[in-house]
This record gives sequence, structure tokens and C-alpha cells, in this order.
Amino acid sequence: IGRYAHLNAFVNTADADSIHARVATAVNSSPTSNVDPRSPHGRLIAIKDNICTADTPTMAASRILKKFNSPYDATVVRQLREAGATVVGKTNMDEFGMGSHNIHSHFGRTKFEHKGEDRSAGGSSGGSAVAVATGQCWAALGTDTGGSVRLPAAYTGTIGFKPSYGLLSRWGVIAYANSLDTVGILGNDVESVEGLFDVTNKYDHQDPTSLDPSTRLRLPTEGPTPSKPLRIGVPIDYNISTLDPTVRKAWLRSLRHLQQRGHSLHKVQLPATQHALSAYYVLAPAEASSNLAKYDGIRYGSRAEGKDGTADSVLFAKTRGEGFGPEVQRRILLGAFSLSAQAMDNYFIQAQKVRRLVQQDFDRVFATPNPLLTSQAKVKAEGVDVLLCPTAPTLAPRLSEIQVQKPLDAYMNDVFTVPASLAGLPAISVPAQGDNAVDTEGSETAGMQLIGQYGDDKLVLALARQLL
Ligand code: GLN
Repeated sequence: IGRYAHLNAFVNTADADSIHARVATAVNSSPTSNVDPRSPHGRLIAIKDNICTADTPTMAASRILKKFNSPYDATVVRQLREAGATVVGKTNMDEFGMGSHNIHSHFGRTKFEHKGEDRSAGGSSGGSAVAVATGQCWAALGTDTGGSVRLPAAYTGTIGFKPSYGLLSRWGVIAYANSLDTVGILGNDVESVEGLFDVTNKYDHQDPTSLDPSTRLRLPTEGPTPSKPLRIGVPIDYNISTLDPTVRKAWLRSLRHLQQRGHSLHKVQLPATQHALSAYYVLAPAEASSNLAKYDGIRYGSRAEGKDGTADSVLFAKTRGEGFGPEVQRRILLGAFSLSAQAMDNYFIQAQKVRRLVQQDFDRVFATPNPLLTSQAKVKAEGVDVLLCPTAPTLAPRLSEIQVQKPLDAYMNDVFTVPASLAGLPAISVPAQGDNAVDTEGSETAGMQLIGQYGDDKLVLALARQLL
């Protein structure tokens, strides 16, 4: 961690002696289990700073939560510890998960180095991605509301998995936009990602949005047998004019690769996709404005200094003005506006309708019916099993480019990740080579995204393994 301190991937770390002691205890208690490439037993795991840990502060990279110590571990953290994993520390992020480059952090930006250049680590789980990419941990937890695990994975050449909404517990995860928030997993190989998924994919009665056991019975339990040919959907609406040529090449190469493995390719149309980004940036800030209302310095969060009740010192406003960074303030204003009486019908309600259209687009193209909708029962022979598209329109931009960008430019990076978020579908980003480089050492990869029907998490993971 010391060697990589300048990358700023961690906002705090567990004490080195306690890390050593815990790993030693885990390995001694079960010396054979860490031979299993999927088992988190005896492994080092990094946790995004918006997921509660009882032994280190949890601040969501915000000044308003500075020095907040959670009295308990989030369910996902408890599950990993019980499986023998050791938490190395909390990773840097965009404040409350709001951002795409990990530059909006109270603790300063995270950076990713590639060929001597300072690049965006992606956001908001940039710290988790860099910790994984540089080998500072075996795997990491992030959160993905609109792409925050997949985008950093694409930019750093790692694997980032957002499971179906409701499979992993959100208890102890600081909310950004509840209806979209998903705990996600980052790793250097599919095995470690799947290992963490298997340990955390459990019903939790403490999370009211956790998928209940009876509905879980409707989901497929195992992935397909590797030899089974699949129908891969190619969403042509994702082939936008601003797609970076290297990303397009990587997409084509990945499609050819899957074809060579015996799978068939099929063009599909997802027309509502073009409105998904706008809908997301109405819905996510709306939920955020409501969620973040509790940080007022009285019920939650650090409190501003000064006397309350005087004209220049209204405690509530001062606390929030000082405690939240500019991007969070922007989202709160946006959200409060779209929820206000005069704007509600034109913004929030419209965005909810678009969200439904995005969900219907996916249900129309997938062969398997959505297990959450009992009315749709039949498997469609002409449908596809999985979709393959880029994770982001470009490769990781240079930090110097981002500094001169406007907020809207950053929002554009999420154009391919938000549709799966709005529909709650499982999606994974895996690195793919763009150029025909013989020497793959150090050459840049683009993130390719596999999206599956709700509950097809194992299928998505199985196919990700074949893509690598
Ligand atoms: N970049 C998106 C946003 O700022 C997604 C963030 C996330 O998934 N947490 O809202």
C-alpha cells in the first residue's frame, strides 16, 4: 500500500499487525481452502468507503461523515469476514457514489497510471478498482448505482460485476439512490469475483429490498454447461458515432471470439436506450436529494461551528454547505427540483416511464422471461441469452482532460451502464484487447459488458470467463 500511496486508492487502512494476525489465523485454521481460486478464505479484501465496517471509519468520502465510525459491519462485510477474508481498508470513491472519475472525493482524487500517464480510475468505485489493478488486495467490494463498478473496471483493465438488484444485501451500505444501488465486486479474474458473489448472494431480512427466499427459488441456480451454444445479442443502438475506434475494435474482436467458441450472434434493438441516461440523471438525483436530507448536523453527520438562529448562521444550511462537496450539492439541487410540485410531472414521472420502457426493451429481446414478472411465462426461441456491448464509449481519459470538462461530459460516460441499472439486470465488465497487438504486455484494453436477464448472474459470469 505504501508503494502505491500516490494513487490514493485508500482513505484508511486497517493496522498492518492486525491484518497479518488475521490472515495467519485464517490460513492456519484451514490451510487448504486458499488453494481454491474462488475462496475468499485468507484473502485480502478492500471495501468501498460507503460500506460500513466496525473497525475502520466509514465516510463515503464525504466531509459530512468525517470520523463516522459505524457500530456494526454491513451484512456483506460480515459475510466476507465469516468466510475467512481480511479487510485491508476502505477505498476512495466519489463522494456518496456521485461521479464517474473518482475526482469528487473529500480525500482527493484517485488516479490510475498507464504507460506513464495519469488517467481516470473511473468512478465512483475508483479506489476499489485501483486497489485491485495494482494487486493491493485480492478482490474488492464497490457499489454500482449507474455503473460505478463497471466503469472503473473498464478504465483499469479489471473485472467489475454488478449482480441483479436485490441479490446482495444493502444493509449497512450508505444509500445514494435506493432503487438502483447494488453492491458490486471487482477482481482480477472471474474466479475471485464469483467467489465473493457466492458468499454474499444470500437473503437478508434486514434489507427490505433483499430478494426473498421464495422468489430466489424461481432463479436459475447454475450457469449453463460451458459447451452449450448461446445466442448473443448485439445491441446496435450502442454503436454510437462517438464510440472510440479502439473500443469498437475490441467489441468486434470479442464478438468474433464468442462466435469462434460456437455461440451465435444476433442484432437486437433497444430503442429506449437513447433516453436511459437522461432518465437516470433525473431519478438518481431525486432519490439522492431525499436520502441525503438526513445529514443536517442534528440527526446525522458532522455539525458546523457557530451559533444557530442568526441570519448568517442557520445551522442546517451551514452544515450542509460545508459538509457536501460541489457535485453532491448539484445533485441535491437537481433532485429537489425534479421532485418539486411544478416539475414533478415533466421530469420525475417522465423518467419513471422511460425506466419502464428500458425494462420492457430488455424483456422483449431476452429469450428467458423476467422471473420477477410471473405473467410472462414462455421462453422465446428467437430471443437472446446475453447481450454484449462496450462498458464505456472511450478508454480511460487523462486526468488533465477531465479537469477542463463540464459535469455533463462526465455524465456521458455512463451511457452504456445505466440501462442495466434502470432494469436491475446483472452486468459484468471484462477487459478486451482493442488492437491486434502481438505484445499484449502493457497494451490498453477496453471494457466489454455482458448483460443478462434478471437472475442470470451465473450465466453472465460463465460467459465472462469465456471472453477472457
Ligand atoms: N456516475 C454515475 C453517477 O454519478 C454512477 C454512480 C454510481 O454508480 N454510484 O451517478
